[in-house]
Amino acid sequence: MKTQVAIIGAGPSGLLLGQLLDRAGIDTVILERQTPDYVLGRIRAGVLEQGTVELLREAGVGERMDREGLVHEGVELLVGGRRQRLDLKGLTGGKTVMVYGQTEVTRDLMQARQASGAPIIYSACNVQPHELKGERPYLTFDKDGQTHRLDCDYIAGCDGFHGVSRQSIPEGVLKHYERVYPFGWLGLLADTPPVNHELIYAHHERGFVLCSQRSQTRSRYYLQVPLQARVEDWPDERFWTELKARLPADVAARLVTGPALEKSIAPLRSQVVEPMQYGHLFLVGDAAHIVPPTGAKGLNLAASDVNYLYRILLKVYREGRTDLLQQYSPLALRRVWKGERFSWFMTQLLHDFGGHKDAWDQKMQEADREYFLTSTAGLVNIAENYVGLPFEEVA
Ligand SMILES: Cc1cc2nc3c(=O)[nH]c(=O)nc-3n(C[C@H](O)[C@H](O)[C@H](O)COP(=O)(O)OP(=O)(O)OC[C@H]3O[C@@H](n4cnc5c(N)ncnc54)[C@H](O)[C@@H]3O)c2cc1C
Repeated sequence: MKTQVAIIGAGPSGLLLGQLLDRAGIDTVILERQTPDYVLGRIRAGVLEQGTVELLREAGVGERMDREGLVHEGVELLVGGRRQRLDLKGLTGGKTVMVYGQTEVTRDLMQARQASGAPIIYSACNVQPHELKGERPYLTFDKDGQTHRLDCDYIAGCDGFHGVSRQSIPEGVLKHYERVYPFGWLGLLADTPPVNHELIYAHHERGFVLCSQRSQTRSRYYLQVPLQARVEDWPDERFWTELKARLPADVAARLVTGPALEKSIAPLRSQVVEPMQYGHLFLVGDAAHIVPPTGAKGLNLAASDVNYLYRILLKVYREGRTDLLQQYSPLALRRVWKGERFSWFMTQLLHDFGGHKDAWDQKMQEADREYFLTSTAGLVNIAENYVGLPFEEVA
């Protein structure tokens, strides 16, 4: 088998890159370890930056998103009894975000791939990249009891945090940066109307709360919990009681509860590897970086990497600009680090660190809350990062 760009992983990164390249006439093959149902069953991100929305439209998969997605012009920040609406549109000169679940983005991209007939191989086991530094890279993988070989020009490693791509780069090449936080998020998905028409980010002495949503009838709520918390210790009733205790009385009073469709705990961490390229292999999305979800940046940074790699590959194949391949890692990382900074900042601002912060750091946290939520400059700072910073030109 032969293709131009071999893509490992059919998460949002791999599917979006495949879709954009396919529409540009560049051949791709996607290899995915799981089945389509498994991929679609993962409940993850829900807030799309404007740049991600525009990229999905450019990829020809914006129709259902524009019809069913919810455009949000603001979010609510509740800190220390103060309620501050962050007017995203007003503070950023007209920018907004779109609430549209990652599962729906993935479904739209899978359907587009199927309609185009471009190859995607599910349940591909033991994917292994080879000859990454040579002129003829290739992948091997097992499917239906046979080993196959896929020759290609380039490999996009879109296989998430636990994928094979990053692990196939020799030791010593990558520099790892990491910050582990002393808590996790317990998430609950329910078919209940959201408690508020906009998202609520709330700091409370019992811990952080996010009231998010996937549609006008489906809510997603998160509670900050200790790292050692276990889902089985959180029956629905306990979750709803704790959520109400952390929300202002008027918001708690209008909360509609219901049985959980899904409940899970995700530990919070920040992680980046540099560089994001090794020979003919390019790391994309979670394969190269993880953010705590507080800034709603995980999926959006994956789309940001796709944006840069797609535009570079377009110029490589159309104009012979192979010099641009070296630009991918620095371009992508400049935006990744700003997303990491914002996610770290929001996590610091809104969570309860208990005994993990000394008295000085606690005072700094209080001063940050006081400053950022009462100054127009502070609010603009949060708003412009939340809607997403602009992409750089690829030239
Ligand atoms: C529990 C959870 C909750 C999250 N919540 C949010 C949120 O609220 N907001 C937010 O912005 N972000 C959130 N994120 C982050 C966001 O979902 C990710 O940033 C996003 O999925 C990254 O997309 P990706 O395509 O790079 O990686 P992934 O979505 O991880 O996709 C990688 C794909 O590669 C496949 N794969 C892995 N290894 C191999 C292999 N060896 N061979 C072939 N295929 C392989 C996987 O099966 C998977 O389909 C969350 C993530 C998690 C895990």
